[in-house]
Parts: sequence; structure tokens; C-alpha cells
Amino acid sequence: MNPIIIALLLFLFRLDTLWATSNFSSMDFVLSKATLTQYVHDIEGFPKALGITDRVLPITAEFQLLPGPDNDGRWLGGTYTDPELPAGYVQRLEAFRRGKPSRGCTQHIILNGRLRYAHNPFFGTPLWMGTVAHESIHVSQGILCISSNTEVETMAELGSWLLLAAHADTWEQQTSAIFSEAALIYDLRHRSIQAVLDLYYQAEKEPKFLEYLHLTEAEYLYYKELSPAWLAAHRAYWTDSIILLLTEAQDDGIIQTNYLPSGVLDIQKLLEFLREESIIYGY
Ligand SMILES: [Zn+2]
Repeated sequence: MNPIIIALLLFLFRLDTLWATSNFSSMDFVLSKATLTQYVHDIEGFPKALGITDRVLPITAEFQLLPGPDNDGRWLGGTYTDPELPAGYVQRLEAFRRGKPSRGCTQHIILNGRLRYAHNPFFGTPLWMGTVAHESIHVSQGILCISSNTEVETMAELGSWLLLAAHADTWEQQTSAIFSEAALIYDLRHRSIQAVLDLYYQAEKEPKFLEYLHLTEAEYLYYKELSPAWLAAHRAYWTDSIILLLTEAQDDGIIQTNYLPSGVLDIQKLLEFLREESIIYGY
């Protein structure tokens, strides 16, 4: 088997065990306007503190609630109904940056609110925090985030994991930090599953590994029904990001990039967290 797949599977199974055996999985992640506002307020200064940008971001966020699912379980309305999405299940919570591209990325994040519906496979999970962190890194990118280069997304992904790790580290013992830790583990697990699925389909293998993970029935169906074409089209978000993370774990954790204002992403704090939790080791 491809050594990248083996490394990814080990990484994924460790995350899955950590998620399943911790009390994170039984936490009640109530996604309300109040929690969203509080969380966005909490993370505003982090991109600056991490050297990603030189300014504190006055990010505001809001929900844009969509109509509920139709009889088939598909979501109606808006521009968010994606025909590639598996029937009955919807994609992860998405966040959108508001504003005309010509004005660059603004300081406003809109969450479409899908995770507030019990029907969503990720309802009650901390996935929304990773999404907000991802979008806040896009805000940090400023005008750079308009680029169609896929590195814009890999930097937003790695930056969001770094932000969650830094958040967890800063407010150790506090509830919001524990949530950040849970969100980081859950987000990495989510992305790894998609990355492994992508690599399996490229190698024309059956994704039997899904049966060995601690997935809820809704999660299992969601992952099982993701199409190879859809996974390939979104490769920059997970496969590329997760591989870059594992590569950096063996390197120095300093990534030079044209897609952050600072020109560099230092993910050592993230790697430290992953080592402390024995998610990665031996590097
Ligand atoms: Zn993005």
C-alpha cells in the first residue's frame, strides 16, 4: 500500500480513538447565536498573535438560516443546494465571506446555519468552530484570498488548525479551550477521512476503513456517499492540507507562502499539540 495512505490511516485512527474515548464526544455543543458571537470574539486577536497578519481582526459573524430539508432530506433554497452532495445528507457547515471580491475579503463571516438542524450529520459536533477558524484565516489573508490558487485553501486549513491549537493552549482548563481542542481533533478527523477516501478512490479501492471508525450512523452514511469526483474537486481542502501537515511534522513546521500577508505560516504550536496528544510522534 502507498506509504502516504498508511501514514494517513495511522493519523486518522489515532484521532478517531481520541475522539471516541474522550468526553468530547458526549459534550453538548449548542450552536447558538450567543456561542457563535462569543467564539468569534475570542479568536479575533489570534491571527495577529500567531503572526499570520499584522492586525487584530474585528470579525463579526452571523447565521443565515436556510429553510429546512425537503422530504428527501435535501436542503432547499439559496445557492447552497449542491447536486454532488449525497442524498439525505448535507455538506459540513459552510461559512461565507460577505463582500464584493473587488473589495477584497471583508471582516464579516456568515454561517449558513445548517448545523443547527438535527438532521445534519454534524449536528452537535464542534465542526462549526473549525469552519469559523478557517474563514477567519481567509479574512486575515485580505486581498490574497481572492486568488484561485488552491494554496489559498491549504493555508486557510492549516491556519485554522493552528488557531484552534493556540486557542486550546492559551485558555487551558477553560471551557472554550476544551471546546477548541475538541474542535481541532474533530476537524482533523473529518478532513483525514475525506483525504483517505480520496486516496482510496484514486487507487480504486473499497473504503472499508470506514467500518472500523467510531462513526455515528449519519456520519457513516455521509462519508460513504461522498463521490470520488466531488472529493477530487475539493482536494486542496483536505488531501493536500493533511499531507502538507504530515510532511511539515517531519520538517521544521515553517511554511513559506505567497498566500498569507506575513509570507510565512509557523505551525510549530500545532505540531506541539499533536505530539503532546500522541496524534503524531516519532518525528
Ligand atoms: Zn476556504
